Amino acid sequence: MTQLDLELFFTPIPKRIGRLRELAYNLWWTWHPEAQDLYSQIDPDLWELVYHNPVQFLRQVRQRRLDQAAGNPTYLRQFDSVLSDFDAYMDATDTWCTRQYPLTQGKTIAYFSAEFGLHESLPIYSGGLGILAGDHLKEASDIGLPLVAVGFIYPQGYFRQRLDREGRQLAEYQKLTFVDVPAIPARTPAGDEVVVEVELAGRLTYARVYRIQVGRTPLFVMDTDIHPNVEQNRELAARLYGGDHEIRLAQEVILGIGGVRALRQLGINPTAWHLNEGHAAFLLLELLRELVSQGMPIEQAMQQVRTHTIFTTHTPAPSHNDAFPINLIEKFFWRYWPQLGIGHEEFMNLARQDQSWGPTFSMTTLALNFTERANGVSKLHGHVARGMWQWLYPEKSRDEVPIQAISNGVHTSSWVAPELAQIYDAYLGIGWQDRLDDAALWERIYDIPNDVLWSIRRRLKHNLVAFARERTRQRFHLLRESPAIWPVLEEDALTIGFARRFAPYKRATLIFNDLERLKAILNNPGHPVQIIFAGKAHPGDEEGKRFIHDIYQFSLQPGFAGRVLFLEEYDIATAREMVKGVDVWLNTPRRPHEASGTSGQKASLNGVPNISVLDGWWPEAYNGNNGWAIGEEWYREPEVQDRNDARSIYQVLEDEVIPRFYDQRDAAGVPVQWITMCKEAIVTVAPYFSTRRMLVDYIQQFYLSATLPHTITTE
Ligand SMILES: *Cc1c(COP(=O)(O)O)cnc(C)c1O
Repeated sequence: MTQLDLELFFTPIPKRIGRLRELAYNLWWTWHPEAQDLYSQIDPDLWELVYHNPVQFLRQVRQRRLDQAAGNPTYLRQFDSVLSDFDAYMDATDTWCTRQYPLTQGKTIAYFSAEFGLHESLPIYSGGLGILAGDHLKEASDIGLPLVAVGFIYPQGYFRQRLDREGRQLAEYQKLTFVDVPAIPARTPAGDEVVVEVELAGRLTYARVYRIQVGRTPLFVMDTDIHPNVEQNRELAARLYGGDHEIRLAQEVILGIGGVRALRQLGINPTAWHLNEGHAAFLLLELLRELVSQGMPIEQAMQQVRTHTIFTTHTPAPSHNDAFPINLIEKFFWRYWPQLGIGHEEFMNLARQDQSWGPTFSMTTLALNFTERANGVSKLHGHVARGMWQWLYPEKSRDEVPIQAISNGVHTSSWVAPELAQIYDAYLGIGWQDRLDDAALWERIYDIPNDVLWSIRRRLKHNLVAFARERTRQRFHLLRESPAIWPVLEEDALTIGFARRFAPYKRATLIFNDLERLKAILNNPGHPVQIIFAGKAHPGDEEGKRFIHDIYQFSLQPGFAGRVLFLEEYDIATAREMVKGVDVWLNTPRRPHEASGTSGQKASLNGVPNISVLDGWWPEAYNGNNGWAIGEEWYREPEVQDRNDARSIYQVLEDEVIPRFYDQRDAAGVPVQWITMCKEAIVTVAPYFSTRRMLVDYIQQFYLSATLPHTITTE
């Protein structure tokens, strides 16, 4: 779309605040609440109605409202201040990276991911993997790392979740309204639109490339729902993880091969390539094809590709790693492998993984064969991944398998409550965001007076209760029913949060293992406890969907009604409200299936301690004073494990969590020991489990060496 086309869609904006549109097209606003306020203040109801999407907001806002804002001196002062911060950010030549890692400058790191979780108004993510990718981009922007990202725009996104009367999950796919997406057509250096061509099972398919600006970092997303494509291929990338094996394969071909071609057309020639999970691994074949077509022998080309690539694996369950049937690969690649100058067997061997049912083409194998640098996403997961993939390195012991560990983190400014960020300004000092990974700085959290932190924590919980009641009210309104108990939840009860994808290994129903014991805990007079759940199950995951139904049904039972609440539509907005508003965060994966987990990091950053199985990131973070570990014994039988883990949760709640929260209060009613733990959670988690520390690790361990020019010697 040209600037002129854009004009047609918008309410004319008074010149004085005309830059509101420019701001809407840079997702910088997603981690600057003061920038969001510039829109919400103009019309708070519309801001909610458009689900915090400033592009849509500007299209629908009334002229009168804009005129009022443009004539309001207080508004204009804020407007000028935000825009001047925005300009300073975008124009800075002196960034954290130019100071700390000058060698990164002038390089380009390409970051490929099937999903990016940047904001609730841009539904191109499904869960933790996407959120991590989104946070990675925001952090790269903040520190000035020269990174470009490649992904998909899914015109129908991931589904929106509704629950029917019985609590069964319904998946709603809404078509994205393109004029409401903060994306503009990407352009070549000559100014042409970018359309890439990829062959899919003998048929040419086209993808148009759009640019989404994330602060200083560009994200290029491909869309196959365009005119020259046959109907079948237009639908290809319509939904994230929506299709069968073949659609999935087609999407991955476009992501990997189309993505490389898109960057070439854009005139971007990365010096390092980072694959966020195996979905993008076909990019390795395309890099190989490019080199071979220039006349490089394949062995040498493979070596060349290896020296510039980074692969992050996220999947500790073998069955969840992408692996395609050989015949499907043949159908898609029979014209491709001759271009590499190799035959069928050699091609399949690049990614071969033998399963009990026969050979498959495994994206993780492909990625590991073609990257010199690979990592899991927590120390424990690194160890698990080394065991899982040791068969690829028969001459190496498990510890020598070249898969490192770089633990995940979260983008602090995106996940910290604005109310707390203000307190951090006061106690850590203005500009603490520049020193996020400075552990000594975070120790100043201990200086925050207990009553100050307690009153903010209470306020955040009240906000969450209001949010949850409003969601619940809307749900019943849509169903034309009235809730059996109203209002749900108590403002001051100890509140447990559980929100994540409902993959079965996360055991969302574990806490219901002994219903009577749980009821007794929740309804203890004077010590009430409540639990808020949220989460989506993959539409094809019957077990996950059953968990949702079960929890919903429990929430209607006497003893749970009003105290157990399932919130519909888990997304970034729900996650944000929950991680800052609850008192404790519950995490119950079946060890070692949780590669990292990040929601508990978001919670800790907000002074919300975790009650968690020692899986993923938690063994690295847990110190005995910043939360609780549950189920520290391991059993072979899953049912025995579940029963014991559930008992451990009850015990921790009864003996430790509840007394600390309710009994040990000072004269002013502040639970001093509790607040001490909240502080400990912030101090020990915020500096380390941040994307700041994570990116420093990627830079030091991988990016710097991968971007170095590499001369390959022919033997
Ligand atoms: C953080 C986040 C996740 C990841 O949660 P885990 O605890 O790591 O499973 C998933 N979905 C959303 C919307 C999130 O914000």
